[in-house]
Amino acid sequence: MSTHQRAVEDIRRSYAEIPGGTAPRLAKPTSNLFRFRDPGRTAKLSARDLDEVISVDPGTMTAEVQGMTTYEHLVDATLAHGLMPYVVPQLKTITLGGAVTGLGIESTSFRDGLPHESVEELEILTGDGRVVVARDDNEHRDLFRAFPNSYGTLGYALRLRIKLREVRPYVRLTHVRFTDADKCMLAMQEICDSMEHDGEPVDFVDGVFFGPQELYLTVGRFAERAPYVSDYTGMRIYYQSIRQRGRDWLTVRDYLWRWDTDWFWCSRAFGVQQPVVRTFMPRRWMRSDVYRRLVALDRKYGVTARIDRWRDRPVQESVIQDVEVPVERGAEFLEFFDGRVGMTPVWMCPLRASSDWPLYPLEPGKLYVNFGFWGMVPLPRGRFDGYHNRLIENAVHELDGHKSLYSTSFYDRDEFWRLYNGDAYWLVKREYDPSGRLLDLYDKCVRGR
Ligand SMILES: Cc1cc2nc3c(=O)[nH]c(=O)nc-3n(C[C@H](O)[C@H](O)[C@H](O)COP(=O)(O)OP(=O)(O)OC[C@H]3O[C@@H](n4cnc5c(N)ncnc54)[C@H](O)[C@@H]3O)c2cc1C
Repeated sequence: MSTHQRAVEDIRRSYAEIPGGTAPRLAKPTSNLFRFRDPGRTAKLSARDLDEVISVDPGTMTAEVQGMTTYEHLVDATLAHGLMPYVVPQLKTITLGGAVTGLGIESTSFRDGLPHESVEELEILTGDGRVVVARDDNEHRDLFRAFPNSYGTLGYALRLRIKLREVRPYVRLTHVRFTDADKCMLAMQEICDSMEHDGEPVDFVDGVFFGPQELYLTVGRFAERAPYVSDYTGMRIYYQSIRQRGRDWLTVRDYLWRWDTDWFWCSRAFGVQQPVVRTFMPRRWMRSDVYRRLVALDRKYGVTARIDRWRDRPVQESVIQDVEVPVERGAEFLEFFDGRVGMTPVWMCPLRASSDWPLYPLEPGKLYVNFGFWGMVPLPRGRFDGYHNRLIENAVHELDGHKSLYSTSFYDRDEFWRLYNGDAYWLVKREYDPSGRLLDLYDKCVRGR
């Protein structure tokens, strides 16, 4: 039996041993989820030996990858062949299975959609304990199509075959400043439609909102050679460089992980952006998974909340979300967000789905902008936790957008199933998890069970 088959048997056995009525929880060393649940009400599902790249085939430009393999590991394996996955989420410990079931995004998404759109085949441990191979053209097509945005509520991805594309050794970056959100959104639309900027092809597009009069689009282009390369894994900080220079060069690996070292900008909450702290901070600790662990510890022991109470500071609400809004409504969203929530910076990333994925209904071919914001916002007096998050949910849906589900959500049940296509979900759920051994999407993502 191959190593992979042995690992499949292990997880199957582990799943069968979980008593009915107890929700399984993938026992993997890292997570990028921002819904913290009570581990006491779940049982560990062993995911041992499911974190390897099985093979990379430069001939067919595909890779066979186990479900719990981190992108860091996957990118190292593919770059060795001059290849990369179509979409590489920015955080190193996001796994391929996690990005496909929980949706990922990056600066290639304007052309290549979300990570699940370059998956050819999924091997899944389903809720009823079967192991099936689902493809777009076989008898498990419904499961294949419903898997993205199902968050492990239909089953677990054990192996995926994904498409790869060629890379060049360097990426040339151009940061373009805008003083007006409408103009920025218009330029984003033009660049993504033409796939060109200043008459040259573009390979990557994303951007940052620092304020209503300070927005940047960053366009990246592969290059064979570079006059110099910058390094943002030490003293210098990538997001700050966007405001300071119009042109930059990175190795392809450093480009793919440019946001991980400082968890976009969220490392500032730990003092890591202060030169003195940074000088003494070992580089191996400047990673998104280290910061994520610190946040989990803080939540567990309530340290920040206690300090805020002692200092009589207003109660803070955690506003950690990624939302998708049609590009033509992007400026309206930014105006709302700046006025009512007021958190900066905001990450902006254009994306276009190539076809219809039932549980995350984006209109195929239409350009959306993902706005990502991660931080704490003081609650106005008399308001309770969820106040800003609810405002955001309402605004996003008024603007014909969608919200990803990796963090907290506040929808009521009917509204949730209307927005996330309950009709399609329940058909597949009944087929692959008829006795409901896995939580359903509402219970998992909204009720946080
Ligand atoms: C601050 C922040 C910023 C983010 N920014 C980005 C971003 O810029 N780009 C981006 O692409 N994504 C981003 N994400 C979202 C992230 O991609 C998703 O949360 C993704 O699901 C995390 O994958 P993971 O492998 O860490 O999974 P986990 O966090 O371990 O799990 C996420 C969910 O997926 C399920 N799951 C995990 N593995 C599998 C599997 N193999 N099969 C089935 N279900 C599985 C788990 O049960 C769980 O419900 C961000 C998240 C946060 C918190």
